[in-house]
Amino acid sequence: MLKKILIANRGEIALRILRACREMGIKTVAVHSTADRDLKHVRLADESVCIGPPRSVDSYLNIPAIISAAEVTGADAIHPGYGFLSENADFAERVESSGFVFIGPRAETIRLMGDKISAKEAMLKANVPCVPGSEGAVPDDPDACLAMAKKIGYPIIIKATGGGGGRGMRVVYKAEELLRSIEMTRSEAKAAFNNDVVYMEKYLVTPRHIEFQVLADQHGNALHLCERDCSMQRRHQKVVEEAPAPGITAEERARMGAILTAACREIGYRGAGTFEFLYENGEFYFIEMNTRLQVEHPVTELITGVDLVKLQILVAAGEALTLKQSDIRPHGHAIECRINAEDPDTFAPSPGKITRYHAPGGLGVRVDSHIYTDYTVPPYYDSMIGKLIVHAENREVAIARMHGALSELAIDGIKTNIPLQRRIMEDPHFQAGGADIHYLEKKLGLK
Ligand code: ADP
Repeated sequence: MLKKILIANRGEIALRILRACREMGIKTVAVHSTADRDLKHVRLADESVCIGPPRSVDSYLNIPAIISAAEVTGADAIHPGYGFLSENADFAERVESSGFVFIGPRAETIRLMGDKISAKEAMLKANVPCVPGSEGAVPDDPDACLAMAKKIGYPIIIKATGGGGGRGMRVVYKAEELLRSIEMTRSEAKAAFNNDVVYMEKYLVTPRHIEFQVLADQHGNALHLCERDCSMQRRHQKVVEEAPAPGITAEERARMGAILTAACREIGYRGAGTFEFLYENGEFYFIEMNTRLQVEHPVTELITGVDLVKLQILVAAGEALTLKQSDIRPHGHAIECRINAEDPDTFAPSPGKITRYHAPGGLGVRVDSHIYTDYTVPPYYDSMIGKLIVHAENREVAIARMHGALSELAIDGIKTNIPLQRRIMEDPHFQAGGADIHYLEKKLGLK
């Protein structure tokens, strides 16, 4: 078993990983930038190492500094959390070649799924339903491009194979715009991702975002842990997540689960992962796989009773999953609201000192957050300062419980999106379930 884990992340997820390690009797090493000395998990960790100045490129993305920290502290594994280096295949490779266990998939799997064209190819081969499209890069010949787009049918979307974070995409409504859009997406992709390869797919007009959680060990066992609905988004960023997805039947879940666990075996997947889909008119269309733990993993934990971080650690240590698919029986409904340090109207980040903090509580209420009274939110990183998660016997009670918990949550000194989250819980269309990915922006008047 692993004895000491270095947590290569910050904020709430670093604390989440630390808590799992403590329960398992595993020692922890926190690494932090000079701006993050006061993080809660740094105080709680068995050891901590400062790895550089505030900017992420100098600290949380600084591979040599992180590997050195693991060496000097004698850690035997590295957990990357989400964001930062979690989907960096070169990092995973360096971790393993330096003699540490990487708590995540093999580097080659990260590489395969990190390139959207090769990911889609692998998924088509594994019989996972994909958005119809170019099946590879768009051709060089303009006439061939026009013919391809016509065959797929407008609107189409041009996407960069190396894209991420909602960037490197352009929707095309008419043939006249096609060639120019391909060129623009290409040059943007070259500048942003140093990769100008783009592909084409059908643009789905009113889809929902539904994703499936999977978990696989190194012995050929793979499980799915049901789905989540993350359709409440602003600028392709998730705002509210829930599990299970409203309206998805047990039969649909079982059918997709079987396809995805088979796909995991086919690509030799290891660890926790998420298959993301757009869902429209009763059909699922694969868009990408995240080869790591997700921000929204707690909603899955609450409906399945499974501790995903503990299982990630056990699987990384080489243990076989003892859970069986028949043990995964979703119970009730869970909702997560991301709590961001930002202006609820303009969405401008709002870093600064938290002068007062009161967390909500009660039956079925979970708070995953590193903040405390007198903590200063630094301006250098993501604005998410925590997650409020509730679980109840059904969706209606979960929404009421979340509304109550949001009312109890008090964070003073900085602006937060708590008022926006309350509005969402009060929204009749959200309450009805099944809103599409554009709904929140339309409600906010952004579209
Ligand atoms: P990223 O890696 O940048 O997150 P994704 O491929 O996951 O990119 O797509 C991000 C978002 O872009 C999706 O959640 C969806 O809102 C939109 N999108 C991507 N592909 C399509 C498509 N074929 N049709 C409609 N919307 C799409």
